[in-house]
Amino acid sequence: VKVLGIETSCDETAASVVALGVDGRPEILSSIVFSQIDEHAAFGGVVPEIAARAHVEALDGIVEAALGEAGVGLTDLDAVAATAGPGLIGGLIVGLMTAKALAAAADKPLIAVNHLEGHALTARLTDGLAFPYLLLLVSGGHTQIVLVRGVGHYERWATTIDDALGEAFDKTAKLIGLPFPGGPNVEKAARSGNPRRFAFPRPLKGEARPDFSFSGLKTAVRQAAAAIAPLSETDVADICASFQTAIADTLNDRVSRSLDRFRIEFPEVRDPALVVAGGVAANKQVRTTLEDLCRNRGFAFVAPPLELCTDNAAMIAWAGVERIRAGLVDGGAMELAPRSRWPLDTVSDPLIGAGR
Ligand code: ATP
Ligand code: MG
Ligand code: FE
Repeated sequence: VKVLGIETSCDETAASVVALGVDGRPEILSSIVFSQIDEHAAFGGVVPEIAARAHVEALDGIVEAALGEAGVGLTDLDAVAATAGPGLIGGLIVGLMTAKALAAAADKPLIAVNHLEGHALTARLTDGLAFPYLLLLVSGGHTQIVLVRGVGHYERWATTIDDALGEAFDKTAKLIGLPFPGGPNVEKAARSGNPRRFAFPRPLKGEARPDFSFSGLKTAVRQAAAAIAPLSETDVADICASFQTAIADTLNDRVSRSLDRFRIEFPEVRDPALVVAGGVAANKQVRTTLEDLCRNRGFAFVAPPLELCTDNAAMIAWAGVERIRAGLVDGGAMELAPRSRWPLDTVSDPLIGAGR
């Protein structure tokens, strides 16, 4: 089985070919990711119109390169998979229309993939993980804990009630004058900072509901920064270190709720696992915190390589492979419209909740 995947839901234009060998082993034959970050940096965030235009300009070449590097032609493919949502609508239209055209031209089935399903299934591509397991997705647009029961069977156990975690990093960075994207810059500055100088809040810590909240933390940073402005380099480092420690502490508390719930709901699973995905998974302190938490609770901590944790097309092609294997491909995808909102709990039948 060979599937071409296309991803254009945010600020990465990506294409990939993933194959499933006769031995059942997956192989990434190519995975090309073109990040638009430089085009958005000047604006301090992703600008939807610029993103859509950049996808139009880049996608054809990237698809060609992905096929070329994999050494396959359109006729060798079993299907074309593309992200149909959620995400920025302009980019989604570009990716899905391109995929439809390629599928029609080659007379191959089209598979409309939910972007979050791509993240959810990546650990099976990289680590061959068995169902069920928990996914913690922490990116610029999402902060969720998802129960991954099987292909097409997902339950959202926790979500953020305000900002996404990556967004909190980005907004905090902006507040204290660090450039976009904020996450890596906050992490760098935090290295030389004092994590105990500021007592930032740990939103929702100790509460029974499993959700996340980060906007109060951002407000606390704003107030602390205003009180000591102008900020010296040391002030910035101390704010970053204190902020990151508050995040780690909060994650530890929030994620532990869902690990406990998993134990209760799946007592028969002997080797439970927590998978992380999303750009924030690059953060060292976040990773160590989750690693320690998992070790303490007897969970395996699965962190796919970073280039497969952040947005990429290999995860979309792989979701296509999984859907073919599970018999979840139907002819309706050609009539599907992309959706900016598309909750993961509604994807089991790709047409349910996908606004046809
Ligand atoms: P989504 O995948 O939800 O549609 P996205 O494209 O913004 O959104 P990613 O590309 O997975 O998500 O991740 C980008 C986010 O990760 C940004 O918010 C960025 O600040 C954050 N990030 C990247 N590296 C780090 C780091 N080292 N520490 C903290 N945050 C980080
Ligand atoms: Mg991105
Ligand atoms: Fe993503």
